[in-house]
Formats: sequence, C-alpha cells, structure tokens
Amino acid sequence: MARYTGPVCRLCRRVGEKLYLKGEKCYTEKCPFEKRPYFPGQHGPLRRQRLSDRGLQLREKQKARYIYGVLERQFRRFFAEARRRKGPTGENLVKLLERRLDNVVYRLGWAQSRAQARQIVRHGHIAVNGRKADIPSILLRPGDEVSWTPRGQRSHLFEEAKAMVGARPIPLWLSMDEGSMRGRVLQEPQIAEMAVPFDTASIVEYYSR
Ligand code: SF4
Repeated sequence: MARYTGPVCRLCRRVGEKLYLKGEKCYTEKCPFEKRPYFPGQHGPLRRQRLSDRGLQLREKQKARYIYGVLERQFRRFFAEARRRKGPTGENLVKLLERRLDNVVYRLGWAQSRAQARQIVRHGHIAVNGRKADIPSILLRPGDEVSWTPRGQRSHLFEEAKAMVGARPIPLWLSMDEGSMRGRVLQEPQIAEMAVPFDTASIVEYYSR
C-alpha cells in the first residue's frame, strides 16, 4: 500500500500547525515547527497564509490525511464510504479512519506515532483475532482482538511498546490487558470523547463541489 515517504515535518509547516506526527520529538524543542512556523521552501517566510474558503477546506482535508497517513485516493474512498453510510458524513469519516488497524495500534499506546504503528503492522508483528494482519488499513469491528504475533513479541518494538503502555490514555471504545498486551475493540469509536483536530464540515464541503 502506497504511503507518503517525504519529510514529515514539512507537512506540519504546510498546514501551518503542529500535527504531532513524530511522537516524542513533537513535544521537544527539536520540533522544526517551533523554529520555523511558516510554509516550507525558500520563500516560505514571505508566503501569505490568507486562504480562500476553498483553500481552508483543502487545508482541513489535508490535515486529516496527514494525521492518519492516508494518500488522496484512499482518502477519497473513505469519504465515499462515509457518505454512503447512515448519519453525518463527517462523523462517519472520522469513525472509519479511527478503525484502521494502524490507528488502533497507536491508540492502544503501542507506538509513539501512527507512522510507527504502521511499521509495526507492516512488519507482521500484529495479529487480529489470532491471525497475523499486516495490512495497516484493515478496518476493525467491535469484538475484534488485537495482539502481538510470536515474532512481534521477540522484537525490540514489543519491549518499547510495553514500556510505553499507560503513557497515553486509551479511548473508551478500546480496552487493553497490560499483562498479556492484548487489546479489544469494545464499540464504534466515540466522536464525542475525542478532540478531532480538523474540521469535518470543511472536508464534507470540499468534496461536495
Ligand atoms: Fe510536526 Fe512533530 Fe515534526 Fe514538530 S516534530 S513539525 S509537531 S511532526
């Protein structure tokens, strides 16, 4: 599955805010956005950030894409599926993105960032309902169990994950047994309990043209 492989911190500078894509580094003074909080490139500091309505909508859509690490074509598919489902399209979109396996691994606190969670999945370290699952975009359902494969448990990533557990609160729609390092999806993601860092209405308007 294709993914963005360019410099991650540029994405924050492109949208003009911190997206916290790199885990720990984002909270330190090493964060490049702290030193250069303007558009990347030679003329970045001079570039004006006065955006049209369309530009603002585009920026919200890009923020969502960057945060979940999804390329445009896949994001469009998510949006089409969100629109097809009952209920507000924006909420449906967030719920779908949250249910991705890489996001669940991140939300369980087993990775510093979604990018690292994706790597953990791609390396075959994660199992869903006891079977190895190495596709980060798999959508999990209530009742699904997420665990580490035997190979995953022998990796340094497993030790790192164990050391990180508890550092971030786990959302109420997930549960985790720290002893066995098994997680479970209890219910659909609850939008009310999360601070969605982009404006879903703008994304709906962007694709409604
Ligand atoms: Fe964004 Fe984190 Fe890079 Fe800072 S360190 S620019 S918050 S990804």
